[in-house]
Amino acid sequence: MPMYLHELSYDELIALLVQDGLRPAHGITLWSALQHRAVTELSTCTHFLPPLRRWLDSHVGTKDGHTLDVLSVAAHVPSEDGLTQKFLLRLHDGQEIETVVMGYKGRHTACISTQAGCAMGCVFCATGQMGFVRHLRPGEIVAQVQHARRILAERGERLRNLVLMGMGEPLHNYDSVMKAMDLISDTRGANIGPSKISISTVGVVPGILRLAEEERPYNLAVSLHGSTEAERAALIPANQRWPLADLIAACRTYNDKTGRRIFFAWTLIAGVNDTPEHARRVATLLQGLDAHVNLIPLNETAGYLGREGTESAAEVFSGIVQASGIPCTIRQRRGIDVAAGCGQLRAEKKRRVSAAAA
Ligand code: SAH
Ligand code: SF4
Repeated sequence: MPMYLHELSYDELIALLVQDGLRPAHGITLWSALQHRAVTELSTCTHFLPPLRRWLDSHVGTKDGHTLDVLSVAAHVPSEDGLTQKFLLRLHDGQEIETVVMGYKGRHTACISTQAGCAMGCVFCATGQMGFVRHLRPGEIVAQVQHARRILAERGERLRNLVLMGMGEPLHNYDSVMKAMDLISDTRGANIGPSKISISTVGVVPGILRLAEEERPYNLAVSLHGSTEAERAALIPANQRWPLADLIAACRTYNDKTGRRIFFAWTLIAGVNDTPEHARRVATLLQGLDAHVNLIPLNETAGYLGREGTESAAEVFSGIVQASGIPCTIRQRRGIDVAAGCGQLRAEKKRRVSAAAA
């Protein structure tokens, strides 16, 4: 049966080769090339012995053969300070997704996508504005991490942190995302520690409960943005499916079951959710939870009229939340010249292409 080789675990890849009559050592060599060394062009691996080379020639990239997940770069935008690089990566079917590589003070982080588009429709989000296209396979998620590792390796740097905050809703693609995380946290491969991986969700309640139940060792970020049902539903249509009350209850269960803190993201939109009154309501809503609030300035998008709030409003907001005993930080906007928001690079490219066609 044809396989996506980047989706196979260490044991599965070895078993596949052994089944075709090769020694396990060849499987280890191939796993290491794909998952540890992030090789894109296997023909450059001169250390492969003839049996492995022959197996690759007859089984990979041939009709009905196995497939490698290597994504081509459709666009690459470095920030002016050179510390952030945003990539639009092309999948086999032509879909394009965003991957961002950030490197600050030796802390190198990749922000990756889990879906092409997103079904959740958050009004301020460029990905939400484009709608849902499809889920990514585990190999397509792994391939983004490997891309980021190669980019950093060229500068002699190592990828240590991963955030699932690109395009898509990770908990709407739960199984593929978890499979990909298992692969990239394997110490024989990309070796990204589970405690360095953050999954951000719009608040898919069953997914949060499943993470807790399965005791997944990743960090959890929950996008809140509104502190009443109506206020949140106006920004996040998914709140109608998973109301705030259920979300907070699920977060409490998550805290209790895992003993882990939850990071609540709050995108500040001028006049919409950035007043002291909003801050007081957030503080009340989160009382009793093991919570940390991250305030994020809105990245303005073409499809939403909301505006970024002022810095002073953010500081007042942060002060109120902190005074209630909940840690709160204002996230510095980085790589601002890189169309930094999720889905924005793809949206911009589309706009340019349509403008050129008009
Ligand atoms: N779907 C997941 C993860 C991807 S979005 C989620 O919603 O959490 C990652 C984060 O970017 C979320 O907190 C989301 O609310 C935020 N975000 C999306 N568009 C934004 C914008 N235009 N400005 C600021 N933050 C944005
Ligand atoms: Fe989807 Fe997250 Fe964007 Fe909402 S913010 S539309 S959940 S990617």
